[in-house]
Amino acid sequence: MMSDFAYVRAANLEEAIRLLAAPGTFLHAGGTDLLGCVRDEVFSADRVVSISGLAGLRGIKPAPGGGLRIGALVTLAEIAAHPGIQKDYPALAEAAASAASPQLRNQGTLGGNVCQRPRCWYFRGDFHCARKGGDLCYAAEGENEYHCIFGGEICFIVHPSDTAPALVALEAAFRISGPRGQRTVPAGSFFILPGQDHTRENVLQKGEIITDVVLPAPLPGRRGGYLKVRSRATWDFALAGVASSLQVEGDIVKRARLVFSGVAPAPWRAPAAEQELVGHKLDADAIGRAAAASIKDASPLSNNGYKVTLLRGAVEEALSRFV
Ligand SMILES: Cc1cc2nc3c(=O)[nH]c(=O)nc-3n(C[C@H](O)[C@H](O)[C@H](O)COP(=O)(O)OP(=O)(O)OC[C@H]3O[C@@H](n4cnc5c(N)ncnc54)[C@H](O)[C@@H]3O)c2cc1C
Ligand code: SF4
Repeated sequence: MMSDFAYVRAANLEEAIRLLAAPGTFLHAGGTDLLGCVRDEVFSADRVVSISGLAGLRGIKPAPGGGLRIGALVTLAEIAAHPGIQKDYPALAEAAASAASPQLRNQGTLGGNVCQRPRCWYFRGDFHCARKGGDLCYAAEGENEYHCIFGGEICFIVHPSDTAPALVALEAAFRISGPRGQRTVPAGSFFILPGQDHTRENVLQKGEIITDVVLPAPLPGRRGGYLKVRSRATWDFALAGVASSLQVEGDIVKRARLVFSGVAPAPWRAPAAEQELVGHKLDADAIGRAAAASIKDASPLSNNGYKVTLLRGAVEEALSRFV
């Protein structure tokens, strides 16, 4: 049963920031993840502050320099259906379209999707594990078939968001407002690994709110997309996913970003695989080398070795779409 909490609709951004700085207070955007966490007692809330009335956090607009600015309250459904995002940033449109179910995509926002809490069943269940401030990771020696094969240490979650790896691949930036003013954080520096802090998933400080996400101007010759492998065709998180953003001139790859979902506690960039592509023709040989390089440093747990082969195949399939 859900415990009682106060619910406040912030009238403006300043009020939201002020209210959120208090202990026991949580931000509510679409509420699809937050309310589940409170109901399941993953954490308890004294007060929930809704930002859903803040019109300034809505809308998709041109950004200075030729990119796009996406408000944090834009829903996944709006992103998936936006012609400009489909054309110039297909990795993001496909990632948003692949997340959850139609109902959740209509309600869930971009800000909430990148900040949602992990789905580890111990974390979501009645276990005071390391991520909740306890001493133990129950997954390390327990049921870990959906956990990470890269970047695990103390905690072995996978980051649950589909849009997060796409934003890292597209070199997006988060604009953040908080008690100390505004800052902009590149998506590649926003998500953190357990080695940095195993109790949170990103760099946000108490009271900070993502206001919008800025996509840089599309590169000429860009190809990219998001391929997601999951157990069921819908309403399921990634077992492994590949967000790609390539710049190809003639036949030659000039620039490559490959970022994986479902395999690490944060969107996992694969520089060794990227290097196998840059300067080469995008053919079966280069794709095979990139796929092999992408799993080179994998370190599976007792029950998730299947993810290593799955990821290699996913990289191969994702890149073969562009040949
Ligand atoms: C059954 C189910 C299946 C799902 N499958 C997938 C899936 O396949 N792929 C996937 O990516 N997701 C999946 N999800 C997660 C879903 O996409 C997220 O719940 C949703 O995107 C969260 O958006 P929201 O606006 O409802 O966030 P909320 O629930 O309102 O917030 C989520 C978290 O983000 C914080 N937050 C929200 N907005 C901001 C902001 N602007 N600044 C700072 N912090 C913020 C909140 O405080 C909270 O901690 C699934 C969820 C469910 C319940
Ligand atoms: S993987 Fe992380 S969230 Fe899951 S039990 Fe271990 S410490 Fe907790």
